[in-house]
Amino acid sequence: MARYAGSVCRLCRREGVKLFLKGERCMSDKCSFTRRPDPPGPQKPGRWRRGVSNYGLQLREKQKVRRIYGVLERQFRNYFRKAERMPGMTGENLLSLLERRLDNVIYKLGWATSRIQARQLVNHRHIMVDGKVVNIPSFLVEQGNSISLHRRRRIEEVVRDSLKVKGQQRVFPDWLKADSSRLEAKVIRIPAREDIDHEINEELIVALYSK
Ligand code: SF4
Repeated sequence: MARYAGSVCRLCRREGVKLFLKGERCMSDKCSFTRRPDPPGPQKPGRWRRGVSNYGLQLREKQKVRRIYGVLERQFRNYFRKAERMPGMTGENLLSLLERRLDNVIYKLGWATSRIQARQLVNHRHIMVDGKVVNIPSFLVEQGNSISLHRRRRIEEVVRDSLKVKGQQRVFPDWLKADSSRLEAKVIRIPAREDIDHEINEELIVALYSK
């Protein structure tokens, strides 16, 4: 499946917000957005100040969330349709579904410094769910699932290095219980709206897809 192959820092500048796509670098003063937060492309005076339509705001919010989780358009729309069929608020359901992706869970556990790296760990068959290898980054974890490493000796050093970065800079989510010494984790509950640590206005996305 085709994926964006350009500079990911450009995406942060495009969305006007840090999307944390490059791991440790995102937290350092080397972050391109910190150094140059203007949008990519030819610069015109007052470009940020130009009025944006409602549609434009909705579109940008959807693109921002899609890029945070590294999901393609069609896949994102499928999440939305699934969220609509679930009981409760569609926008909150959508964010909960995205948060439950296995690549996101690995990132949130600190076993990878970015969702991109987490996706690689999953793709390369380093992750097990309930004792079975799962190599599908979009796999949705359920309450009670246990997460562990496959071929642990090969990958342990990489995971421990990532955990050092995580320990220094971020907090672990309440909905996951992690044993960082054994490199095991459990899904305690399904993530709720308050567990999402990005600034997101999901109502804009609901409005966009409800047209
Ligand atoms: Fe975005 Fe990270 Fe690049 Fe900064 S370093 S612009 S947060 S991807």
